[in-house]
Amino acid sequence: MSDKNPEYDFTWCPGCGDFGVRRALEFAMEDLNIKTERPMESNVVVAGIGCSGNTVHLLEGEQPYGFHGIHGRSLPVAMGTKMSNPELNVVVVAGDGDFLSIGMEHIGPQAARNLNITAIIMDNGVYGLTKGQASPTTTQDTVTSSTPFGKQESPVNPLDLYLTLGVSFIASGYSVKPRDLAKLMLQGMEHPGFSIIHVASPCTTYNDTFTQLKGSAKLGIQPTAWAIPSDHDTGSKSAARGIIDEGGVPLGVVYEDTSRPSFDAVFDTIRGNNKQKDASDLLAIFDL
Ligand code: SF4
Ligand code: MG
Repeated sequence: MSDKNPEYDFTWCPGCGDFGVRRALEFAMEDLNIKTERPMESNVVVAGIGCSGNTVHLLEGEQPYGFHGIHGRSLPVAMGTKMSNPELNVVVVAGDGDFLSIGMEHIGPQAARNLNITAIIMDNGVYGLTKGQASPTTTQDTVTSSTPFGKQESPVNPLDLYLTLGVSFIASGYSVKPRDLAKLMLQGMEHPGFSIIHVASPCTTYNDTFTQLKGSAKLGIQPTAWAIPSDHDTGSKSAARGIIDEGGVPLGVVYEDTSRPSFDAVFDTIRGNNKQKDASDLLAIFDL
């Protein structure tokens, strides 16, 4: 836990995937600071609710600014932060429960705006903090504390959803390789537009999928995580769809569209093309 926030006593369970995601985020922000020659204070981490949202309190070392907001509303908070100061590197950290349930309605509008922020989604297929209820990504028929007869809904496919909604940078990663994950996060931060890094981050208490992700020759389990081939055309939507349709957890950049201006760039242009009004201009409208 950060020395700068000693009064906050939340901690993750042993082995939780979120530890690896936190480390990757620390690496990525440090790497970005070196490249841009900017201080850690130029980063703002906006957190959703749930175990993953506590990342904002549990970062170690030099501290960015942080905001732990209300359930499902990390994207509107991130939009306000970014648009009030576009120089900031704004990063959302949220889980599948927060981002893909109550928060899902905000993904489409930010994709349409191409809001220049990075969202890191820790997907453990469960609501961990509230004791293991089914989340949007829990697989069908799974028995949880909220689905005693098995979950009846189809699971959301997050990568498919992001691509459909027009998110301009989509990557998929895995919590056990923080260095590899940090590279994806850095790419997302440098992308001029809305980027989402979707991370398989197992919950060791309620939905431990580490063995399935890594596979086990001893148990005859094929790994669900697989590396996206190096010749994948990240600029092609149909190639991205092909990667997603393969199933499992692809590792790498799935899709990237650099052709669209980011929302802050659009506003810069509008400001440049229009004379700034002062109070007398506004009062003149009313012909007082
Ligand atoms: Fe991690 Fe699950 Fe524990 Fe939450 S409940 S800290 S997601 S292992
Ligand atoms: Mg979750």
